[in-house]
Amino acid sequence: MPRYDFRCRSCGATFELRRQMAQANDPAVCPQGHEDTVKLLSAVAVTGAASGGGAPQQAPSGGGCCGGGCCG
Ligand SMILES: [Zn+2]
Repeated sequence: MPRYDFRCRSCGATFELRRQMAQANDPAVCPQGHEDTVKLLSAVAVTGAASGGGAPQQAPSGGGCCGGGCCG
């Protein structure tokens, strides 16, 4: 079961909860009873934006030798 980190904005405490992914965005209640909490992003949400390989090279089609009249 995934683990989610939350931080309470009322008392500043951080805590973690284990819950189903379907409930990941459900409001969490601080151990102190506060409901003003925010979900922290953990290492789960890492994207590979910095390691892009660039667009694949694609040869132009239909521009063969006969297109320029060199073989006629
Ligand atoms: Zn709290």
